[in-house]
Amino acid sequence: MHIIVLVKQVPATDNVRMDEKTGTMIRAGSDSVVNPTDENAVTEAVRLKKEAGATVTALSMGPEAASRALREAYAMGVDRCVLLSGRAFAGSDTIATARALAAAVRKAGPVDLVLAGERATDGETGQTGPMVGALLGLPVITYAQKLVLGEGGLEVERLVEGGFERMACPLPALVTVVKGINHPVVPSLHLKLRAKKLDIPQWGAADLEVPAGELGLNGSPTRVARIFSPKLSRNTVWYRENGGHDGLTALADWLTGEGLI
Ligand SMILES: Cc1cc2nc3c(=O)[nH]c(=O)nc-3n(C[C@H](O)[C@H](O)[C@H](O)COP(=O)(O)OP(=O)(O)OC[C@H]3O[C@@H](n4cnc5c(N)ncnc54)[C@H](O)[C@@H]3O)c2cc1C
Repeated sequence: MHIIVLVKQVPATDNVRMDEKTGTMIRAGSDSVVNPTDENAVTEAVRLKKEAGATVTALSMGPEAASRALREAYAMGVDRCVLLSGRAFAGSDTIATARALAAAVRKAGPVDLVLAGERATDGETGQTGPMVGALLGLPVITYAQKLVLGEGGLEVERLVEGGFERMACPLPALVTVVKGINHPVVPSLHLKLRAKKLDIPQWGAADLEVPAGELGLNGSPTRVARIFSPKLSRNTVWYRENGGHDGLTALADWLTGEGLI
């Protein structure tokens, strides 16, 4: 069994800063980490590796520095890592990113299961995993909170508002996982040391069977028209309680009028 986990390196903060002029993310000055739900996806892959004897490949697209995220995945227990890197990928939106990742999965395959995080903490679209699955023609299940390998394929509990759905699908498939699926495995010291010396293969656009016009900025139909921080304004009104509860009554009337209670 071969499992490929998609691992994205993201800024180590939820407070992503954007350059309002260029519409791009300001990455300088912020540390990078493995996207939190990708740690859960890696942990799930490593669990299935132990359970079903799978081989696990971690795949990331990003600048050379993204190899750090792959080294962390290796220290968590994946068997091999591949980094997609090069100028041809720069400026990719979600569909161009998904095309590159899907082509790399095809090249690294055959694959039985592709795992991804529910969404990345920087871009936060949650589109990449399902797009990769669609491009590969695989069944896709999103928001998995439990995965069980069965005789005929996968049984999945899928988180939905107010509960969960139980689903089954044949393999190969692509599944995105939520944070609650597990506690991320703690990297072992032994693997951390090996990860430091790990030779990570780098694939560029020439290694993938994707027309050049479908990658990077040229292959990205998304245009960022404008980016800005919303300005929040506050109007404070004081309701004072004077012993006769006038203030409280007025506050309750206001909350009722606004439909808040
Ligand atoms: C016009 C435009 C230009 C952009 N230019 C750049 C750029 O030059 N450089 C840049 O870094 N970003 C760029 N981005 C952002 C980039 O498109 C997104 O980061 C990327 O498509 C992933 O989307 P997301 O962050 O919403 O991830 P989500 O879809 O929320 O991520 C879900 C899951 O998909 C997987 N995943 C997502 N991205 C990757 C990845 N790169 N490698 C491996 N797995 C992944 C992970 O498992 C992740 O948990 C650009 C975006 C736009 C709209």
